[in-house]
Amino acid sequence: MLKELGRGLITTFKMLLESPVTIQYPEEKRPVRPRFRGRHVLKRYDNGLEKCIGCSLCAAACPADAIFVESAENTDEERYAPGERYASTYEINMLRCIFCGFCEDACPTEAIVLGANYELTFTNRRDAIYTKDSLLEAVPSPELLTPQKVEPGEYTRSIPEMEDPKL
Ligand code: SF4
Ligand code: SF4
Repeated sequence: MLKELGRGLITTFKMLLESPVTIQYPEEKRPVRPRFRGRHVLKRYDNGLEKCIGCSLCAAACPADAIFVESAENTDEERYAPGERYASTYEINMLRCIFCGFCEDACPTEAIVLGANYELTFTNRRDAIYTKDSLLEAVPSPELLTPQKVEPGEYTRSIPEMEDPKL
């Protein structure tokens, strides 16, 4: 019995010498793995235009029927995205999403990506529907916000020749 007691005390003493493994969330956050799939983000080009062209391929690919997209026409006076159309409505129901990443794979412009943010909390069903405003990437300065007034004929292709057209 004394032997077991001694072994128990040694184990306890060893634990006192080890550095703690507990992470003090939320002050301290554990880095995620490179292929982690977290909260979605709708990306922009460097010049602020939205990458999403409202094609709905992500919605078609989603096995959980979590995405709703409505598109509208761009004009050079009010341009949201390159090409003819942009997503006037983009919603993801996070109660349905299973974080499979199919939407990301289906997107022809790499507009929708699953980021590293895992802090997904809501207290009612309506707040679980993430809208375009909350999903769209922030811009570094206000003049990069959409819609933008651009030169006629500058962005006729939905997928521009340049990966990230500059200003
Ligand atoms: S990650 Fe999967 S389930 Fe979630 S919105 Fe995308 S396709 Fe749908
Ligand atoms: S996120 Fe991609 S696939 Fe979905 S509507 Fe926009 S451009 Fe199309």
